Amino acid sequence: MKVLSVASEIAPLIKTGGLADVAGALPAALKGVGVEMRTLVPGYPVILEALGDGRQVMTDGDLFGGPVQVLYGVVDGLELYVLDAAHLFYRDGGPYAAPDGFDWWDNPERFAALCWMAARLANEGHLHGWQPDVVHAHDWQAGFTPVYMQRTGAAHTVGSVMTIHNIAFTGSAGMDMVHRLRLPMEGYNAGGFEFFGRISALKAGIAYADKVNTVSPTYAQELKTPEFGMGFDGTLKFKGAHFSGILNGIDTEYWNPATDKHIIPYKVLRGKAKARAALCEEMGLDGDSGPLCVVVSRLTDQKGMDLLLHALPRLVERGGQLCLLGSGNPWFEEKFLEAAAQNPGRVAVRIGYDEPLSHRIIAGGDAILVPSRFEPCGLTQLYGLRYGTIPVVARTGGLADTVIPSTVATRMAGVATGFQHDPDSADALVHALDALCDLWADQKQFQQVQRNGMKHPVGWDVSAAEYAALFKEAARTP
Ligand code: ADP
Repeated sequence: MKVLSVASEIAPLIKTGGLADVAGALPAALKGVGVEMRTLVPGYPVILEALGDGRQVMTDGDLFGGPVQVLYGVVDGLELYVLDAAHLFYRDGGPYAAPDGFDWWDNPERFAALCWMAARLANEGHLHGWQPDVVHAHDWQAGFTPVYMQRTGAAHTVGSVMTIHNIAFTGSAGMDMVHRLRLPMEGYNAGGFEFFGRISALKAGIAYADKVNTVSPTYAQELKTPEFGMGFDGTLKFKGAHFSGILNGIDTEYWNPATDKHIIPYKVLRGKAKARAALCEEMGLDGDSGPLCVVVSRLTDQKGMDLLLHALPRLVERGGQLCLLGSGNPWFEEKFLEAAAQNPGRVAVRIGYDEPLSHRIIAGGDAILVPSRFEPCGLTQLYGLRYGTIPVVARTGGLADTVIPSTVATRMAGVATGFQHDPDSADALVHALDALCDLWADQKQFQQVQRNGMKHPVGWDVSAAEYAALFKEAARTP
């Protein structure tokens, strides 16, 4: 089975969030279950530099305002098709936003171009010796792919799967863009890519793909409700059995405390104490009065950062500490920096994006906090499990699916791995942090929960097999 993945970011080359981790990890995970995956990615400067001299497999003289080519090559073990389109992707700034922080004005064209070439690769793959059976589109940036596959005729022979990593990003454009984006006018309706009087690339992917999934079973259920569906609930319900949830895994080789290059490696909890001490020293934290809680996150409303600010005084009062790495909403950045200034030795905050530091923080923490209002899957709680850093999470989406709440019963059964609290409630977070501090007071039990977590499977084994089954269902030939 050959699958062409279409992704706007891919770890370790370019990453703004969990989508990159999944796009980067799936190809290796799927190899073991008979799926050969190549990934089409935009030719951002960092990707073209990493690629070097790729083999040209496709050209187009004028794609949304300039000539483009698709290059093939292997980077970091990933088989990539790179869309080299200087007028669209060869720019300073992030994948989606200019250096001033605002979205690129031409994002609809930029990612429509990616989808267009994906559909061509699906249609003409046999011409250069690699014909996909299925195209796997990630999020709105790849959402027009199944529409274009219908246009090019590829949909007759090639199946399509759309994965929703985060429903909040809809890929919106004005309806006057239908022709500009080479979309069929007849698709501009409630059953197609129309979304509240505009075009939505995400809606296009959901409506046109053979199969749609999101990244955890609970989030799949939530998305079918008006509360979480953000306007897509009706369309997703309409997909019926063609919409499902498959839990994300993590790359357990890269996220392995025994071999992690970014930390003082450890296999058992005694070794973890060194990572903790090193983190306390690096961040200027006192260390020993209570659980060291860590956060690695975008600082946004979605992530419940206001709830954490509310609960922080109580955590500090109980002797706990906070070490936070993140960036995002400037108001949150300022408030967390203020909290650090007011609580020297108890609260440490680093604003920015720092991959090596994120490893040191997750390794050094006693508990990792993820108080999200909604969370499609969440990855940092999985890193926490792997590193013996107890997850304290909101009971929502993939967080609910991956953490076994600590109760007398689950501790006695030896399966408790963390704490869950009601989402969207600062009081509930306070209670969960209280429960964490209570557990901390009984170090034997605390360490048992840490050990349970370290044994919990967080890799791709089960989910890779589920993706393989989904691709098989979507493929035209058995
Ligand atoms: P989302 O994709 O919604 O941001 P996830 O938990 O699914 O949330 O994935 C976030 C990913 O980004 C994780 O791999 C996390 O470690 C990483 N990350 C988030 N913020 C930072 C940061 N400031 N520095 C380093 N890594 C970060």
